[in-house]
Amino acid sequence: MPYWIIFLFLFAHTAAAQQTMDWQATQGDIIHVQIHADSDIQQLTALGKSWPFQKNIDGMTHGWIGVDLQQKIGNYPLQWHSEKNNYTEHLHVTKGEFRISRITVEKNMSSFDAAALKRIRADQQAIKNTYDIKLDRFPLFSKASMPVDGIESTPFGAQRYVNGKARSPHSGIDIAAPEGSPIAAPLAGKVLLVEDMFLNGTLIAIGHGKGLVSIYAHLHKSHVKLGEQVSAGQVIAEVGSTGRSTGPHLHWGMRFNHVRINPQSLLMLSDNTNKK
Ligand SMILES: [Zn+2]
Repeated sequence: MPYWIIFLFLFAHTAAAQQTMDWQATQGDIIHVQIHADSDIQQLTALGKSWPFQKNIDGMTHGWIGVDLQQKIGNYPLQWHSEKNNYTEHLHVTKGEFRISRITVEKNMSSFDAAALKRIRADQQAIKNTYDIKLDRFPLFSKASMPVDGIESTPFGAQRYVNGKARSPHSGIDIAAPEGSPIAAPLAGKVLLVEDMFLNGTLIAIGHGKGLVSIYAHLHKSHVKLGEQVSAGQVIAEVGSTGRSTGPHLHWGMRFNHVRINPQSLLMLSDNTNKK
């Protein structure tokens, strides 16, 4: 048999072994995807964005994708790009089951004058700016842990009504705990923001790399300074009730490439989840 026929056979065999997967996610999920590609992956794209990936010693390339809380349900292409090939898989986004939450606050915390609105917008911008800060680190996605012991009082995605008026859905989880309870960093990272804000009270943002940012709000006290490197499990703050808050709790939010993801889904990441 001529050599080229053997090579052709080998190539066809490799191509046939290349299986594409269907992936499933709920609105607000961060998911772990993986592929065994015949050449090095250069880029992973889905939902109009590029996502971080890493080649493992097992020969698999692992990637992580965030699905925004309000991403439209449907089927989307998920593409792995290598020098030689594009592998197209599918991502099925299903509807999240989000609760309705109603809170009542004092009038000066529900309707705002011009000065307050200006401050609220500046606060939001300062938080948003942290999402674009590039850090030289790769998050240990599958190792995240809960930042505080407590009871979840408002779940992720809850449609909120403040004094009867519809507001944007809850972009994090609220964990009720006594004032002063220690808050531990769920993953290692760098402190990108420490500030006293109008609605959020004392707030910390930590960057974990690759656009993964965690937010902690309504803090009694911060234990970290801007620019500080924190390790996983390090106490960064204490639970409080500063800003617009109805009692001591931690508001824990997670952003990934700007999208709002459920911190609970980060905790549930493991190599065997999310496969259809
Ligand atoms: Zn909250």
